[in-house]
Amino acid sequence: MANPEYSGKLDKSVLNHYLSLESPEGHVQCEYIWVDGTGQGIRSKCKTMDFVPKKAEECPVWNYDGSSTYQAEGSNSDMYLHPVALFRDPFRRGEHKLVLCEVYKYNKEPAETNKRHSCKKVMDEAKSSIPWFGIEQEYTLLSPDGHPFGWPKNGFPGPQGPYYCGVGANRVYGRDIVEAHYRACLYAGVKIAGCNAEVMPAQWEFQVGPCEGIDMGDHLWIGRYILERVAEDFGVVVTMDPKPMPGDWNGAGAHCNFSTLKMRQKGGIKEIEDAIDRMSNHHTRHIQAYDPKQGEDNKRRLTGLHETSSIEDFSAGVANRGASIRIPRQVAAEGCGYLEDRRPSSNCDPYAVTEIIVCTAVLNK
Ligand code: ADP
Ligand code: MN
Ligand code: MN
Ligand code: MN
Repeated sequence: MANPEYSGKLDKSVLNHYLSLESPEGHVQCEYIWVDGTGQGIRSKCKTMDFVPKKAEECPVWNYDGSSTYQAEGSNSDMYLHPVALFRDPFRRGEHKLVLCEVYKYNKEPAETNKRHSCKKVMDEAKSSIPWFGIEQEYTLLSPDGHPFGWPKNGFPGPQGPYYCGVGANRVYGRDIVEAHYRACLYAGVKIAGCNAEVMPAQWEFQVGPCEGIDMGDHLWIGRYILERVAEDFGVVVTMDPKPMPGDWNGAGAHCNFSTLKMRQKGGIKEIEDAIDRMSNHHTRHIQAYDPKQGEDNKRRLTGLHETSSIEDFSAGVANRGASIRIPRQVAAEGCGYLEDRRPSSNCDPYAVTEIIVCTAVLNK
């Protein structure tokens, strides 16, 4: 990896001179964004458009070199970018756009890590149930040396306890990044719902939702892209590793909150319990969809300790943070609402997560 220290050190006031130059009338920069062959890395490249696109469909299909993104051999390397969702660009501002894309291979088949393609089909099939999702994206900030941001260079901070939702210079590290990211998401049109400092120092969470169907994956991926860009400006590294520090430190997940219209209506708790029953029959399938390595990454996190369940077993319970699925206390009290699947890893693909939940919980397949 390149040394991350340098990007944050360039003088941003020099940059601002150029960013304030006027562009030719009607011309905008569109940043095409996609998921690379690792299933978790984000790539992007920029294209000038001589009109202001209002919908993703107005943006042309484009291509890139898949042999440089772990996606294709050099001899047959062209991959296609199909624009699917548009957001405002919080970095360039004005009419400039972020353009989320699906990736297709030379033969027009979806790339292996294009999880959106099949997710979209499932969401279309389940449309009448009006599925809503909210994902809690946990992540960890690292210094350029790979050590968690703000941690003592030789050693460890004091044990966990004071950091979750903490305030104060000795309890939270990197709030500037969190604040900048939140505003940038609001500006872009990402449906950010909240944020908080996490249990391990330098670990944070932002929530996105509620989003209907395919929007969940679209909004979360753009939220992640914006986070990477903001942290880049500060010269700080983001990791989505589900267990960045082994030992007595919390891992990072991506709890997926889920409901259908029936679950949200009066008496919906029965629907929630039935859905949990259906999901319980497919624990292994869910685990395989919950990180890019079919459970290999997540098994470092899902130990049964540190507010997790064991990766081996399925469990569910009201207000139980040691269960695979938690029914929030308030939902049990009101008799309707949503469930929380606590298993997805922080580096999950939200398309794969929401697809399997709808498959087993709604479509019963
Ligand atoms: P936790 O108590 O587990 O930390 P958070 O407040 O961090 O929960 O996140 C809750 C998430 O649940 C948010 O992303 C929110 O958008 C989402 N959410 C709220 N209501 C619903 C619902 N009815 N269906 C799906 N998701 C929901
Ligand atoms: Mn949360
Ligand atoms: Mn959390
Ligand atoms: Mn949660």
